[in-house]
Amino acid sequence: MGTADLHIHSIYSHDATTTVRAILKQAADVELDVIAITDHDEVRGSLEAQQLASIYGLEVIPGVEVSTREGHLVALFIKTLPPAGMSLIETLDHIGQQGGIAIAPHPFNNLPNSLSMESVLGALTNSQVKDVLKGIETHNMGTQNFDRVARKIAVFLPFAKIASSDAHIYWAIGAGRTEFPGKTARDLRTALEKNTTIPIPYEEEFSARVILSWVRRITMRRFGYASDARSISSPISTKPLSHSMIRRIRKKQDSE
Ligand SMILES: [Zn+2]
Ligand SMILES: [Zn+2]
Repeated sequence: MGTADLHIHSIYSHDATTTVRAILKQAADVELDVIAITDHDEVRGSLEAQQLASIYGLEVIPGVEVSTREGHLVALFIKTLPPAGMSLIETLDHIGQQGGIAIAPHPFNNLPNSLSMESVLGALTNSQVKDVLKGIETHNMGTQNFDRVARKIAVFLPFAKIASSDAHIYWAIGAGRTEFPGKTARDLRTALEKNTTIPIPYEEEFSARVILSWVRRITMRRFGYASDARSISSPISTKPLSHSMIRRIRKKQDSE
């Protein structure tokens, strides 16, 4: 069996603090075979990771967490960035046209960024896109309090069940993980399409520590006080980072 974490955020997301190299190193340390960096409406981190992956003995699937009008959607195996702000059906169509597939992250929890049951069923019954949405997160460490609803509903839906870390800090990577027959990204895709993935639950105590650590790190990121090896050390806002800022942070983290 192979192991994957298909929902990880890097510093290219406005709300995360880990460089791509730090993600790859941690993913290798916790023995993941396949990962996807899925920044919010941003693919730079994902593409950078693909170029570096072989150094760390991993496979990286190109991905993004798209902000559809109806909630977040994790797109995998993409070539170009689907625009934010489209309907779920339009976004799935965009992903499908380029050979990608999608996972519904942290669904059915009534939060503004999460897909509703109505939206997911709409996609499932739409002949144009029903083969694009392949998975559903039954475990998302960031929204653990709502996961039970997703798990109950997922039993009745024909989607691969996925556990993801939704890591916004480096040491949460792999805390939510999905097993699949085989080892490679291609094997994983087959498992998603055949609904043979196995979500491995995270430890709840671990999840609470992650949230506390994320609050500390994102506060440091916003006010520029971080000084530990894998956090931001420059005063930056929550806006997307500039190329020069990312280069500076990366240089510092990679040298530590
Ligand atoms: Zn999300
Ligand atoms: Zn996310």
